[in-house]
Amino acid sequence: MTQQTDQFKKVISHAKEYGFVFPSSEIYDGLSAVYDYAQNGAALKNNIREYWWKAMVQLNENIVGIDSAIFMHPTTWKASGHVDAFNDPLIDNKTSKKRYRADVLIEDYVAKIEAKIEKEIQKASKRFGSSFDETQFRETNPRVLANQEKVEAILKRLGQSLEKEDLTDVKALIEELEISCPESGSREWTDVKQFNLMFGTKLGASADTAMDLYLRPETAQGIFVNFLNVQKTGRMKLPFGIAQTGKAFRNEIVARQFIFRMREFEQMEMQFFIPPGTQEAWYNQWKENRMKWHFALGMGEEKYRFHDHEKLAHYADAASDIEFRFPFGFKELEGIHSRTDFDLSSHEKFTGKKLQYFDPERNENYVPYVVETSIGLDRMFLAVFSNALTEETLEGGATRTLLKFPFALAPNKAAVLPLVKKDGLPELARTIVEDLKWNFQVVYDEKDAVGRRYRRQDALGTPYCITVDHQSLEDQTVTLRERDSMKQERIPIADLKATIQDQVSIASLLRKL
Ligand code: ATP
Repeated sequence: MTQQTDQFKKVISHAKEYGFVFPSSEIYDGLSAVYDYAQNGAALKNNIREYWWKAMVQLNENIVGIDSAIFMHPTTWKASGHVDAFNDPLIDNKTSKKRYRADVLIEDYVAKIEAKIEKEIQKASKRFGSSFDETQFRETNPRVLANQEKVEAILKRLGQSLEKEDLTDVKALIEELEISCPESGSREWTDVKQFNLMFGTKLGASADTAMDLYLRPETAQGIFVNFLNVQKTGRMKLPFGIAQTGKAFRNEIVARQFIFRMREFEQMEMQFFIPPGTQEAWYNQWKENRMKWHFALGMGEEKYRFHDHEKLAHYADAASDIEFRFPFGFKELEGIHSRTDFDLSSHEKFTGKKLQYFDPERNENYVPYVVETSIGLDRMFLAVFSNALTEETLEGGATRTLLKFPFALAPNKAAVLPLVKKDGLPELARTIVEDLKWNFQVVYDEKDAVGRRYRRQDALGTPYCITVDHQSLEDQTVTLRERDSMKQERIPIADLKATIQDQVSIASLLRKL
């Protein structure tokens, strides 16, 4: 087993053990690729959502937020292209009877070659020490070059055959690469077929009048159908954006990798409406803005990269993913798409209504172009959580497990701990909780020795522990312990609010943008 999968297993079990993520309906043995957020997970998820929402809506005068319904008129999905084109290519293994996404099988194969390249680089870096030049090594090492060429050739061919909908060639590629079923090891494959990912449901009581509906597979269409309503009632001038967060549903074929790929998930999307002809500049601007949002979290700039698309969706003239280094490798976290006027024009055609904007500067009516940013909240949760989970060896050889969350995202910002359960210390600790709770989330914990309580809060990612001891009764000071450095300082109770608030607020992140 590789180190990466070991780390990923730890992420999943820590998320369960410390009350972040539970399998859905677990007492019935769970439901595949559906998860529930637990007491700490819901708090972390809310904080990520708040950071995104405020960065979009609060900081930008020309971006407003809405909350549209999950159910939409079924023709919406004809117009958006989802009825005809929201498909994944799937393939079955004849021996194991397991179903896979054909493109994912090939991408996993490519990931293995990429892992070989990384290993080669790590080995060389150890060998050469500080004089190692990674760029030069990548450009000159014959084994790395050969593997890199292989990766590029495979991805290019996959991109081209998917674009041409040449599913026979996708199967041929799987056969040529001798990809076998991860379960059975067999190479007996069926043909590749298309499979629509939307969940259907019905609206109405009687069988003959019921209307076929879909659960929305993306939140974006709720924004497009409201474009004119928002533009008129908000008196919005181009360029302007509409943001929304909410649930989306996809009947994913290969539902795996924990909350990375779920059947019910949450998206945070923003559609930015612009004059035609300005899309390239805005697309680049939003790529930059979004990367800044990620970098402000301080999780390490080397954990992110852009991946520009070879194969463009039916609605796009340019598209790029922000990929994050998850425990199982670099994978898509967010998409930035230049969607042209596809959606609004298509809704015009299907409804017969004009969805246009009168541009006073150009003195003309037109259908605006759109640049979209779309990030999965659950994927962002997984990025933050897996990046935070750390095991440290302390002086003396003991280990501690901690979640090094960016402070502003941590579920609890501080834990108040009376040193002992007597002598009036719990009472003083409670008054501190009462005082701080108006400003941020605080917890009270009096069980077990204080050292064990510190470990518990570390494992939950709580940035600060406030310890109340006998001296506190005399001079109204407490010990403030910081999670990552474990440094402790004695500070007046009266200074707690200001000291902590500055470090843990969402505003502290927003100021970096
Ligand atoms: P993928 O290629 O991984 O299936 P996608 O390109 O279909 O993703 P988009 O339609 O661009 O994804 O959706 C935007 C974002 O929504 C993605 O970047 C991802 O973060 C999130 N997302 C999409 N599908 C899922 C899912 N099944 N579970 C969790 N998050 C998802």
